[in-house]
Amino acid sequence: MNLFDKLAAASLPLVPRPIVRRLSRRYIAGEHRADALRAGRKLEKAGYAVTYDVLGEAVEDQQDVNLAVQEYQALLQDIAEEGLELNISLKPTQMGLLLDEKICVEAVEQLAQQAKGHGAFVRFEMEDSPTVDATLRVFQQLREAYGETLGCVIQSMLRRSEDDVRTLLKNPGPLNVRLVKGIYVEPAEIAFQSPEDVNDSFLRIFRLLLEGGAFVGAATHDSVLIQGIQNILSELPEAAHRCEIQMLLGVQEELRQSLREQNIPVRVYIPYGTQWHPYVVRRLRKNPKLARYAFFGMFKKKEKL
Ligand SMILES: Cc1cc2nc3c(=O)[nH]c(=O)nc-3n(C[C@H](O)[C@H](O)[C@H](O)COP(=O)(O)OP(=O)(O)OC[C@H]3O[C@@H](n4cnc5c(N)ncnc54)[C@H](O)[C@@H]3O)c2cc1C
Repeated sequence: MNLFDKLAAASLPLVPRPIVRRLSRRYIAGEHRADALRAGRKLEKAGYAVTYDVLGEAVEDQQDVNLAVQEYQALLQDIAEEGLELNISLKPTQMGLLLDEKICVEAVEQLAQQAKGHGAFVRFEMEDSPTVDATLRVFQQLREAYGETLGCVIQSMLRRSEDDVRTLLKNPGPLNVRLVKGIYVEPAEIAFQSPEDVNDSFLRIFRLLLEGGAFVGAATHDSVLIQGIQNILSELPEAAHRCEIQMLLGVQEELRQSLREQNIPVRVYIPYGTQWHPYVVRRLRKNPKLARYAFFGMFKKKEKL
């Protein structure tokens, strides 16, 4: 981590809210559902798939879980009415994972049920390492009932992830995994630290998943990694229809567009909601490198959505 990253991250809590808002504006669709739907409409029109995320995490009580579930329910309803692609991403700790695993199972199941009725897809995301076991337990518990309509996330930086994937592949039924590097700062005992090791792990897991018959959403903006993905796909052409690239709103739009132009399917992650401030500050503090991206992002023209 260079000095600029450290300074940028350390000073974030002191930065006035309007400036943090400005730092984050290219990465967040807006505060309201209508903002997210506007972004979704525009991106779909441009040939992208999408997934929506209602900002919020580490909720403190059942009431907050209920509020998050209600917002997702309204979102599913609105997306269905608009005839847009139905695909949502849920944070385990927003669904109450830190309160009680049962609360989390109930919340995710409520949404998975409604989603299944609409033919929608639900991505159950992955947060920091202390939550991984519980997150995978909740996913496995619901996986049988929701099959192709429910997927999970695996982080290549975690040393355990290859074993986790082997376990997931052993279980019967379809498997849909979003593969990411992992956004959280984790200690060396449990996580690869060098970018090369994280990328090698990513590509090993990517191959393992495809050879095991899973669908993989390779979520990355790293062009070196994308080249590695393309190399593996050229060795496994029969698996190409089981892979897409996923990217965050506002990040590497030129690369995103060039992938679309090569007919590579790309899904864009659209976060929205009023909880942007804790989300942005926590994210930037957890991964100071992002503070630098955000800082330079301030000077880039925002994608018109
Ligand atoms: C769709 C999607 C869903 C995700 N879901 C999860 C999840 O559930 N759990 C989890 O732990 N992590 C998640 N992540 C985050 C992921 O783990 C990485 O932290 C993030 O994608 C950055 O890694 P990278 O592979 O893009 O490579 P990097 O090497 O970090 O980035 C490659 C290049 O992309 C650009 N870039 C990357 N991120 C940003 C940014 N935020 N702003 C501006 N430029 C940027 C930079 O130019 C950088 O050089 C998700 C990422 C995506 C794209």
